[in-house]
Amino acid sequence: MKILKPYVEVPDIDGVQIMKNIEKAGRTCYKSHSTDEESYKRFLNNIITSGHESVIEHEKVSIRILTDRGSMWDITRHRHASFSIESTRWCNYSKEKFEQEIKFIEPFYLLEDKDGFEIWKKTMEEIEKNYFKLSKMGYKADVCRMLLPASLATEIAMTANLREWRHILKLRTAKNVHPHVRQFTIPLLLYFKERMPEIFNDIEYDKEFDNKNYAELKIIK
Ligand SMILES: Cc1cc2nc3c(=O)[nH]c(=O)nc-3n(C[C@H](O)[C@H](O)[C@H](O)COP(=O)(O)OP(=O)(O)OC[C@H]3O[C@@H](n4cnc5c(N)ncnc54)[C@H](O)[C@@H]3O)c2cc1C
Repeated sequence: MKILKPYVEVPDIDGVQIMKNIEKAGRTCYKSHSTDEESYKRFLNNIITSGHESVIEHEKVSIRILTDRGSMWDITRHRHASFSIESTRWCNYSKEKFEQEIKFIEPFYLLEDKDGFEIWKKTMEEIEKNYFKLSKMGYKADVCRMLLPASLATEIAMTANLREWRHILKLRTAKNVHPHVRQFTIPLLLYFKERMPEIFNDIEYDKEFDNKNYAELKIIK
């Protein structure tokens, strides 16, 4: 068994170019094409404050997340996004390809509670032991997966347009959201704010969530 920390992988996006592309598409409505290098800022501000958000659907961002199965259930409720998710039907963790071990996401909020963490760890070890027993008896991953818990590490490829990202990040960075979800949504929102401030700066998030628990943000060149 291996205990992993989560991460979120993002492309090294040219936010200004993305915002200019949106401006160009949106100005079609008014026949008001601009040659001013900075005009996208005012334009996007107007689009967002007036609720004319279909315009920002013209651009999308794809990311990759390593998180736990429970967070996967939460994030995949969003219907205007596309997902490809590690399948527990086809991935048999007792095979060499998976290093013959099951990977779990560290429950960081239990780290300071020695007894609580021990209960979690022992349960995961037991699950792995019994998963391998069933596999040895000849059962396929389809059957063995019945034992897998919400802590199972899960890779997700996810794509959404910027309107949907705004919606998802508004909902999923708030205090009432599961900490494992906030772990990757907050650093993602901060990255979008840095690269595309005119589109994401108005979105509030849980500022009390300790940044030492953020998922690692990997920027892929
Ligand atoms: C803190 C929190 C707790 C939650 N707890 C639970 C829970 O206990 N149980 C549970 O089942 N779910 C729960 N959810 C999930 C929640 O109910 C939504 O399913 C999920 O957040 C997706 O939101 P959405 O429908 O707004 O977004 P999306 O699916 O991303 O859709 C975006 C927007 O498109 C529009 N839209 C999409 N589909 C339709 C449609 N069919 N008809 C009309 N408009 C549409 C809506 O305006 C919607 O807001 C929770 C979510 C959060 C954030």
